[in-house]
Amino acid sequence: MTTKKTKKASSTKKKQYRCKICDLLVTAENFCGCRKECEIICCGKVMTPVK
Ligand SMILES: [Zn+2]
Repeated sequence: MTTKKTKKASSTKKKQYRCKICDLLVTAENFCGCRKECEIICCGKVMTPVK
């Protein structure tokens, strides 16, 4: 029998997005659940993911 592992935020991935134009940084903690990654739009352009 294996012991239960209670990892915090095992299913939630934090991801950061940066706007190339205004340099706004956004941290996405919860995703909407659709298979595709959602795009965040700022300044009329898609924000790029930051590592
Ligand atoms: Zn922007």
